[in-house]
Amino acid sequence: MRCANLIGGRWVDPGDGPVLHVRDAATGQVVAQVPAATAEAAKAAIEAASTALPHWAATTTADRADFLRRCGQRLRSDRQRLANLITAEGGKPLAESLGEVDYSADYLDSAADEAVRLTAHTLPQRREGRVQVAVPDPIGVVAAVTPWNFPLAMLARKTAPALAAGCTQVAKPAEETPLSALAFAEILVEEGLPNGVVNIVTGEPGPIVAAWLDDGRVRKLSFTGSTEVGRLLMRGAASQVVCLSLELGGHAPFLVFADADIGAAVEAAVLGKFRVAGQTCICPNRFIVHSSVVEEFTARLAAAAKDLPVGRGTLPGVRIGPLISDEAVDRVRAQVQDAIDRGARVVTGGATIAVPGCLDRFFAPTVISGATPSMRCFEEETFGPLAPIASASDDDSMVRMANATHYGLAAYAFSADPQRLARAARQLDCGIVGCNTAAVSDAYAPFGGRGWSGFGREGGRWGVDEYISWKYICEARPD
Ligand code: NAD
Repeated sequence: MRCANLIGGRWVDPGDGPVLHVRDAATGQVVAQVPAATAEAAKAAIEAASTALPHWAATTTADRADFLRRCGQRLRSDRQRLANLITAEGGKPLAESLGEVDYSADYLDSAADEAVRLTAHTLPQRREGRVQVAVPDPIGVVAAVTPWNFPLAMLARKTAPALAAGCTQVAKPAEETPLSALAFAEILVEEGLPNGVVNIVTGEPGPIVAAWLDDGRVRKLSFTGSTEVGRLLMRGAASQVVCLSLELGGHAPFLVFADADIGAAVEAAVLGKFRVAGQTCICPNRFIVHSSVVEEFTARLAAAAKDLPVGRGTLPGVRIGPLISDEAVDRVRAQVQDAIDRGARVVTGGATIAVPGCLDRFFAPTVISGATPSMRCFEEETFGPLAPIASASDDDSMVRMANATHYGLAAYAFSADPQRLARAARQLDCGIVGCNTAAVSDAYAPFGGRGWSGFGREGGRWGVDEYISWKYICEARPD
């Protein structure tokens, strides 16, 4: 694959310039080098995207849809190679990386489906002698900044709708995981991407993103990452009044009501909580269980968590890979210690597990009981395989505890009673609710949060709409 930046259709190698070392998250070994792009390269990317814009915006939606569909098919046929890259750079188990490639391809299909539905609307005639229409103009040149935990899917879900809408893009993947993004760009090029329509630069984020926000030609930034960086970018976007979509941190509550099927709730909890070793924005972060079933739920979740194979993501059957960095390990460790200090009990896990030949980054799937809202694990996003369990004795208290956060991305509720689920879904203050399931991701659904989890939606028609600037044309047509 090309370990170079894509700018205006040209692959730009680092040459003698600075490089970023991409390391295997499990071992720390360098697996590749990519350019550490400067602000100059970031500006060249804007120039290329601006030049390409009029032509791309004038293509038919049918042509754009065909292109996106072809790229989706290519992702599927290159599934194994792409999954190997995702696991090599981010460390996630190969089965999950394969799932990520499929999920990414779904975003290309979803955007292709929406592209052909983009139409101007003739508005109701409220006055004689007037014709009024609303036209879906592309916003223009857009920027994408993506995180390391879903390096392919997060880029696909920004690039696909942007291109469907007729926008051109400059993109920057996370420093830890640029390889799958570059492989994605290579596929786009091989499938006929016109020069400059997508441009990818890799490197330290500050100067690159500042160059984009300050330029004036970048009309929108779509960012997925931490709330802290999201706030910074909001400030940076102010001077040129750049539109924003922010997919930020999550702190999902997982409610188990008294009448829930405990076996099904445990199964969903394991899938949701321990996927990517707990490093997903929608993973359950706070378990709130009715006091009548908390003992049974805790014991069964701990038993299931203990059985999850921990190891390198490349090994068959492994379910828990490494955390992305030493700092990530320290954060989980600190949350566990804080919980213990405040009276919680570690039922299983609680420390790292040594994996031969690897860094000390494999945190055992951990369940703690007796969690309370004052503990750090109930106040902060964990981003690791820690399941803290609190209990409450009635539905209203459970929902109140769930909503006692500034975040509002996902929430989960488990009950055998459809009315109870419907009430909880109505009351939970967040963008996504899973009822009797934690597998909610779907490229055709509106994905996004509220409050500190950000704003804007990705997926389906909502995802494409984020890249549209509606133009209202009002024409006087006297007889
Ligand atoms: P991060 O905020 O550290 O990094 C995300 C991206 O921002 C990376 O590309 C990084 O290079 C860039 N960045 C970092 N500092 C920057 C700066 N000063 N200026 C400009 N760009 C900068 O987040 P992360 O650690 O990569 O990802 C984890 C976070 O992302 C978690 O909080 C998680 O919940 C969130 N996330 C949210 C969603 C969602 O859809 N809501 C999806 C995945 C991850």
